[in-house]
Amino acid sequence: MKYTSTRNNKISINASEAILKGLSEDGGLFVPIEYPDIYNSLNDIKEMNYTDLSTFILKYFIPEFTETEIHNCAINAYKNNFNCTNCVEVRNFDNISFLELFHGPTLAFKDMALTIMPHLMNQSKETCKFSSDIAILTATSGDTGKAALEGFKNIDGIKIAVFFPENGVSEIQKLQMRTQTGNNVYVSGIYGNFDDAQNAVKTIFSDRNYNKYLNSSGTYLSSANSINLGRLLPQIIYYIYSYAELLRKNIINCGEKINFVVPTGNFGDILAGYYAKKMGLPINKLICASNDNNVLYDFFNTGIYDKNRDLILTESPSMDILISSNLERLLFDIYDGDSEKVSDLINSLYSNGKYSIPEYIQKKLNCFKAEYADSSDVKKSIYDVYAKYGYVIDTHTAVAYSCYQKYIKNSNDDTKAIILSTASPYKFASSVVSALGYNPSKNEFDDIDLISKISKSEIPESIQKLKTADIIHKDIYSKHNIKDAVSKFLDIRNGGDLI
Ligand SMILES: *Cc1c(COP(=O)(O)O)cnc(C)c1O
Repeated sequence: MKYTSTRNNKISINASEAILKGLSEDGGLFVPIEYPDIYNSLNDIKEMNYTDLSTFILKYFIPEFTETEIHNCAINAYKNNFNCTNCVEVRNFDNISFLELFHGPTLAFKDMALTIMPHLMNQSKETCKFSSDIAILTATSGDTGKAALEGFKNIDGIKIAVFFPENGVSEIQKLQMRTQTGNNVYVSGIYGNFDDAQNAVKTIFSDRNYNKYLNSSGTYLSSANSINLGRLLPQIIYYIYSYAELLRKNIINCGEKINFVVPTGNFGDILAGYYAKKMGLPINKLICASNDNNVLYDFFNTGIYDKNRDLILTESPSMDILISSNLERLLFDIYDGDSEKVSDLINSLYSNGKYSIPEYIQKKLNCFKAEYADSSDVKKSIYDVYAKYGYVIDTHTAVAYSCYQKYIKNSNDDTKAIILSTASPYKFASSVVSALGYNPSKNEFDDIDLISKISKSEIPESIQKLKTADIIHKDIYSKHNIKDAVSKFLDIRNGGDLI
């Protein structure tokens, strides 16, 4: 199993190298050059728990790791970090099921990959005999930062620094990050919005002298964002696991096709579903659900990707994105690995803010359907799902539910469907209580108590603990000074300025 770059198909490297590199030097993303076929193994898969299935799937993709090494990564990630035995829960109602991906340490689906990625990275270091330290730098709009901190905390040989926009994350998200424990973590606010934080981190990555200086002192920078192969591969697992769960519950027959509905931002989650389909998982349609930032809806319906529009801040903030980076991997696939063509499209995206694909290529996107939901759709969905099933969903999941209703209306497709439930309603408590018809409180913890009463569920421990946790990280930097913050954290004097 080898991996190549979406912008240079002559490249051929191992998974472990790709995980350490993150991004290819040509700016492209690493993609598998072939896919294992699991269709004939579905009956065996039915018998596997989450860790065993993870080992089974990942060993195809990372053959240079021994089975024991992969199993250890899976155990370290999935054995004790989740508040249910098999990491995810599948809730079934009528023809739809909700795949709850929020039982990890930070209550959002990013945990599914970010709990295992640090272990895959460390094993990659060992396999590639890479002895330097790695420093992960991440700018976050909320969910990724906290999930990365939890995943990487106390991992030997890796440090992590997270920068969040002081004016761009929820109070709960801020509290989650400012109270982060661990002997290798650093957290700071940045004055400004997400773009300011993102740009500040980007200038560090592209500062050659600074990087040279860091390398000479034994540290390499890397990132934890969703273009890393180490995040993509683990996301394939839960598509297969949830299919097996429907088999175990006798909801479907072996081989029966189902639909998946995926609340989408950077296109990482749904791309993993596409890979699962390529591997033979019986999938009929992948329904790409967007919020008001409906760039992908336009792309799938017109063949034109156009980011020239204002970013709209919604109540599903983890999907407020105009450039869905992982779409580049899909382009590579539908252009049959023509990396020159992909490079042209991406260049056009960076210079004109848009690109278009011809009709014969667009036809290859037949297994996708796209819909989008606005703020009133989201409120209505949260209300309806509770009224119909007594089940409380978060704002991101509500986008998916609403899009699924629109899809059924337009298609009359009655294939059984799984909706990916990407965040716990406790994480977006005030939006959820207001959609359910209550007045949100000034104190978010009151809304959290209310959700517990309405949904008759216990407040997750990680939220409960926040009430009394110590604030450990109090820094706020200006975007011009974050190099100082990084140097101080990495304990490097002069911050490279002497070079
Ligand atoms: C990140 C995120 C998404 C979007 O996932 P992508 O892989 O970026 O498409 C959806 N919902 C939640 C809660 C998220 O944190």
